[in-house]
Amino acid sequence: MTHAVLSALGLSGQESGTYLGHGEWSQTRDAGVIEPVNPGNGEVLGKVYASSQSDYDTIVERAQAAFKVWRSTPAPRRGEAIRLCADALRTHKDALGSLVALEMGKSKPEGDGEVQEMIDIGEFAVGLSRQLYGLTMHSERPGHRMYEQYHPLGIVGIISAFNFPVAVWAWNAFVAGVCGDICIWKPSPKTPLSAIASMKICNEALRKGGFPDIFFLFNDGGTDLAQAFVDDKRIPLISFTGSTKVGRHVGERVARRMGRSLLELGGNNAMIVDATADLKLAIPAIVFGAVGTAGQRCTSTRRAFIHESIFDDVLAKLVAGYKQVEKKIGDPTDPANLMGPLNSKDGVQAYLDAVKKAQAAGGKVETGGAALDRPGNFVLPTIITGLKNSDEIVQHETFAPILYVMPYSDLDEAIAMQNDVPQGLSSAIFTQNLKAAEQFLAAWGSDCGIANVNIGTSGAEIGGAFGGEKETGGGRESGSDAWKVYMRRQTNTINYSDALPLAQGIKFDL
Ligand code: NAD
Repeated sequence: MTHAVLSALGLSGQESGTYLGHGEWSQTRDAGVIEPVNPGNGEVLGKVYASSQSDYDTIVERAQAAFKVWRSTPAPRRGEAIRLCADALRTHKDALGSLVALEMGKSKPEGDGEVQEMIDIGEFAVGLSRQLYGLTMHSERPGHRMYEQYHPLGIVGIISAFNFPVAVWAWNAFVAGVCGDICIWKPSPKTPLSAIASMKICNEALRKGGFPDIFFLFNDGGTDLAQAFVDDKRIPLISFTGSTKVGRHVGERVARRMGRSLLELGGNNAMIVDATADLKLAIPAIVFGAVGTAGQRCTSTRRAFIHESIFDDVLAKLVAGYKQVEKKIGDPTDPANLMGPLNSKDGVQAYLDAVKKAQAAGGKVETGGAALDRPGNFVLPTIITGLKNSDEIVQHETFAPILYVMPYSDLDEAIAMQNDVPQGLSSAIFTQNLKAAEQFLAAWGSDCGIANVNIGTSGAEIGGAFGGEKETGGGRESGSDAWKVYMRRQTNTINYSDALPLAQGIKFDL
């Protein structure tokens, strides 16, 4: 299976991790080796040779040169380049989706879905390339015109997490590409093959279409190069997706050099189910939200607040749903399975530690709570009751399928608990009560970047701006007007009169 998937993508399993531009992959072999592992069975999937300092320097120099050409290429023409990438991804969707499933451990439909997101954002970016609008304003001075325009920013540095090994790059790179930027990508060391495959697909499409290199890649054997990347003044924007711990460090370092950062960090997402909720919708939404991708989505549901009048009924239904999922845990590439493994042994340990801490704090494991004794990083999806929202373990993002279920009596109290965590990514309410829905969406309602009604917390469409508040980092990417972060904004005033009136009526007679 692995061999077939790799060869369908033109990979041998012994890969250079550095795309230097000009169709050239680095020959560096002495800067470390990364060996991604199939989390479903522990098999090493291949060898990726990490990048050297000199590779990195070459990339940045070539990216600077490429920017000079790309920034003056008309935006709709840049859109044409991204259209070719989206088309090429469509051709390779099945193989790339399988590689994502093999390397990250998400199910095959979710792997394919991730590639579909790349295609979707590519198509969005093509349209966007004709819509990079600025405003015009009425000047207070006669014979003057004011407007604002958006120019390409420069080199965009993209650092991505293991759990969305390819879509996050596309969200950034395709939008930044039509904005006239050049992108340098440092993927997660857990998923380098998916990154290399994506780069090959897109760069070959660009070259065939006669376009210059706009996407570069390096893989870091440790964190030294990534650190140098973050500190590099030649890179005006670092888009970072990952944990709050590393993101805080990245944000501080970029701010110190007065760079711009786009931070997409951890979440601690909650769902409120009120007494009027349609449980036919709410139960599958919670189960998919908490268990899908084995709880390794930034938007995974981690807390559920259930109205006390329906608490026992909802809990019983959830446990029954989890028992169904338990029967379909296994090889993520088998479409019959609903839940795959955790990505790493560290992830399994973090899951076990969290269960232990929850029990020590008085939590009751209603279902799950253990790792599976078989090859791969499989754990049982877990529901824990009996904890308070303020308990330390509940306040924390554990990147695993653990759901804390808590009762509430009053909607204000539920919204307050939902907001009372350090993170602010995704949130949802299930209700048929219009007032409750609107209260949840009001300024005094959910404090998250994403707030849904009768839809779960997990997963998002590319058309909206994606991101969260507080320790989730405040960044927005993907749709809506998220493109603005990839451009520099300029206000222009043009005087077409014969006089030189000063603003605010100031007189300066010479
Ligand atoms: P991580 O923070 O461990 O790693 C993220 C990236 O940072 C990797 O590429 C890693 O190599 C790199 N990195 C590590 N140290 C660095 C340093 N000193 N300087 C620069 N880069 C460095 O995160 P992870 O385990 O890969 O991903 C899981 C986390 O990502 C979860 O917290 C999840 O919620 C979050 N996430 C957030 C979003 C979002 O959009 N908000 C999306 C996906 C994942």
